[in-house]
Amino acid sequence: MTQAVLITPEASALPEAGALVDARLAAGALVRVLAPLDKGAPGVEERRVGPGRLQTFRFPERELRRECAGGWCEVLLADPASARSWRAILTPAARCRFLGTPPAGDPRRDGGVWLPGEDGAWRVPGDASAPPRIRRAVVVGAGIAGAFTAYELARRGVAVDVIDRWGAPANGASALRAAIIHPHWQAADGPTSRLTRQGFGRMLNLLDDFPEAFDPCGVMDVAEDDAEWAKWCRAVEDGRPFPVPEDFARLTDRDAARGRTGLPLARGGWWFPKAGVVRPALLARRLLEASGARVLMGAEVRLTREDGLWRARFVRGGAVAAEAEAAVAASALDACAVLDAPADFFGLSPLYGRISLLRDTDFRDVRCAVTGHGYLVRTEEGFCGVGATYEQGTEPQITAVEAHDRNMEAFSRLLTDTPEALWGGYYAGVRAVARDRMPLAGPVTLPAELEGLTFRGRPELKDLPVTEGLWGLFGLGSRGLTWGRILAEHVAAEMTGEPTILPASLARAVAPARFAPVLSR
Ligand SMILES: Cc1cc2nc3c(=O)[nH]c(=O)nc-3n(C[C@H](O)[C@H](O)[C@H](O)COP(=O)(O)OP(=O)(O)OC[C@H]3O[C@@H](n4cnc5c(N)ncnc54)[C@H](O)[C@@H]3O)c2cc1C
Repeated sequence: MTQAVLITPEASALPEAGALVDARLAAGALVRVLAPLDKGAPGVEERRVGPGRLQTFRFPERELRRECAGGWCEVLLADPASARSWRAILTPAARCRFLGTPPAGDPRRDGGVWLPGEDGAWRVPGDASAPPRIRRAVVVGAGIAGAFTAYELARRGVAVDVIDRWGAPANGASALRAAIIHPHWQAADGPTSRLTRQGFGRMLNLLDDFPEAFDPCGVMDVAEDDAEWAKWCRAVEDGRPFPVPEDFARLTDRDAARGRTGLPLARGGWWFPKAGVVRPALLARRLLEASGARVLMGAEVRLTREDGLWRARFVRGGAVAAEAEAAVAASALDACAVLDAPADFFGLSPLYGRISLLRDTDFRDVRCAVTGHGYLVRTEEGFCGVGATYEQGTEPQITAVEAHDRNMEAFSRLLTDTPEALWGGYYAGVRAVARDRMPLAGPVTLPAELEGLTFRGRPELKDLPVTEGLWGLFGLGSRGLTWGRILAEHVAAEMTGEPTILPASLARAVAPARFAPVLSR
């Protein structure tokens, strides 16, 4: 057993900006490690330090070692003397931040392991066999996934070409007028809620630099019915999956929820005070500008590997639009076509969706975004978006009037009285959704790598070969704005040989190779 102060969501109240960001990041992984530990169990002690801000635990090292294996996490060490035991647990890819004074002397002398990291953190150096840094990359897709990727690569010193077939960036699913971002809460914490929680934290951190693309109006997630409300109340009473800090989320009864939203809600819900509404197209443009990427629009391309380089070749004519040592497919549903892979290779399906655009003057009192079974969000153009439909395929499955009725019906279920509102049209887009609803982000394995390979049973992801110099970020589903940024950080870190920001279990959960058809004996 090692005594240490772990980052928990409470730590998001820490005053320094660096700690604020990193604390949110680490919360998901560490809370999950701690969650199964019954607080009353032998060996587990909980003690709050300061005004409810930090908790100290004694916990089994084994749990933490498993979760952090090869992944990224951060630990606050109360006691620098415990650095040696932490080094053994977290090597090779963890950062360590010391509360108070770092260990005396030069940490490099401590076995050469602790090295200064960014933001005053101390980083354990990565594996010496890590791939060399790349200098240039081609990104296919100028939606929000491509824009996040270009931005994160540029931050790591990589020059980027971004190519898209449309006339302007963010013309696919990312043309959405207003996207809600908020962490998801579930009594049984799973990969989806962990990734949205960590992704949301990273997104807020990014939006500090692009305030014009974000309305931090708060989001109310309304319970679907009385049974769901009762379930949420019980979970909060029991502290499941962990005690939620109030500045992160607050379970709010119906009257308080009505007061916050300005809507006649039928039930209470989770209030996410830091959540809000992003303007995806504006953000994508700003990220591309900030990245300094060379952006080529109106170019439909395929990626091919030739002479040790990735070439983006025009579909019509075959000329080379750009080439580089590395490539990223950020092309949503078209990832298979861009990479010339079989249609179901990445387990993606299209889910068409329509959002009804209502006259916003009919919702003068609405003060924030509301979500749940249906949702309502204010856009910049004088609309309130109410939605959204889920229609299988890339084309509408019902008429526009039926889609609108469906949206209004879902919205009405959140309310006791539905206000009369003038319908002004709709937004339509196609989500790219993976079979398990998790996104795909990381190194890509193409069919050529699997040819002639036979495995005993389903191989572990780490045993699958990857295609040299090729990464993907697609299948962002309905949450591209909430988790796209952290996934782009993951991809960019992997490409440049940095330790990834995702805990190992989440990196596996989003690995593009997880659906690859393999031959087994
Ligand atoms: C109705 C609806 C509501 C939604 N609401 C929310 C919400 O509230 N919050 C949220 O976070 N998310 C929401 N989403 C999801 C979000 O919009 C997506 O997750 C996100 O925009 C996906 O971004 P992307 O860059 O992966 O895809 P896209 O924006 O579709 O970008 C992919 C790009 O790749 C390009 N491309 C493809 N093939 C080629 C090729 N061969 N050559 C060149 N370029 C190519 C395309 O032209 C396109 O521009 C919603 C989606 C829909 C449809």
